Amino acid sequence: ARRKLSQIRKSSALTLDGTPIELLANIELPDDVDGGKLLGAVGVGLFRSEFLFLGRDTLPTEDEQYEAYRAVLTAMKDKPVTIRTMDLGADKNPRWLNHGSAENPALGLTGIRLCLAEPLMFRVQLRALLRASVHGKLRILFPMLNSLGELRQSIAQLDYAREELSDEGIAYADVEVGAMIEIPSAALVAGSLLKYVDFLSIGTNDLIQYTLAIDRNDDAVSHLYDPVHPAVLKLILHTIKTGAKGGVPVSVCGEMAGDPRLTRLLLGMGLRKFSMHPASLLAVKQRVLTTHLDAVAPIVARMLRTEDPDRIADLLEQLNRDDE
Ligand code: PEP
Ligand code: MG
Repeated sequence: ARRKLSQIRKSSALTLDGTPIELLANIELPDDVDGGKLLGAVGVGLFRSEFLFLGRDTLPTEDEQYEAYRAVLTAMKDKPVTIRTMDLGADKNPRWLNHGSAENPALGLTGIRLCLAEPLMFRVQLRALLRASVHGKLRILFPMLNSLGELRQSIAQLDYAREELSDEGIAYADVEVGAMIEIPSAALVAGSLLKYVDFLSIGTNDLIQYTLAIDRNDDAVSHLYDPVHPAVLKLILHTIKTGAKGGVPVSVCGEMAGDPRLTRLLLGMGLRKFSMHPASLLAVKQRVLTTHLDAVAPIVARMLRTEDPDRIADLLEQLNRDDE
């Protein structure tokens, strides 16, 4: 049964067999959460905090950052808010950052690498996040990790920020910590990350780019940017299964999570948490509401067994047939 998008806005996201699915929103700036713009999302699954750092000549101060994070946490009340630490470099280069000369910026000093290379800058953000944590349910997410070592260093910086605040008598609350899985190496070693994190979030935009060696912003190769390439599916599946085995929740926060044509595939792969641009929430929810997990399981199993792209395309078609 098909329902109007406006009617499903308030309903909870349950599959036909009654499995609850979490649909979360991706945001870029604090006022993205204003006035019902999140269309019934159960939380913020990805706040791309680097947008606070772009389009200006100086770094935002600790207080400025604190105000931005507090605003989102306060607006979301008791709903979880996942704030990703600044993911700069590559395609997001602020004027104050002088790393523009790299020949391969997407393979250069980006994301967590930049933060670990500039620990003082990183700690300003971590202090601001911890200070804001008393205003809601904060989860901190580290981007572009490629190894256990980087994750441990990131957590050490967070611990250092906690110690500083404690010494200064400044309050902070418990926060959950997560790792982004968006580089193939991180997906392959996901198991060793589990004991250091409360959750994993798969960034499929970069995972596809780095797995297929396709620049995500280059039109000349955009026809080769394939979310259902079997190699991509294997890495996503491995991450979901590894999280499930270790009892660590896994979400997808890349564009795949917001593509209703891929909702059933991801459900069939075991995904239960999807974070996406708010504009996609209702369409994805509609797909969840019309999916019976038992019905998709055998088709998805066949998709995951084959490495033939034509066969994968046929099976994807089959998976979505009743909604086309
Ligand atoms: C991703 O890579 O999938 C992701 C969510 O991060 P961004 O798109 O901001 O790189
Ligand atoms: Mg990314």
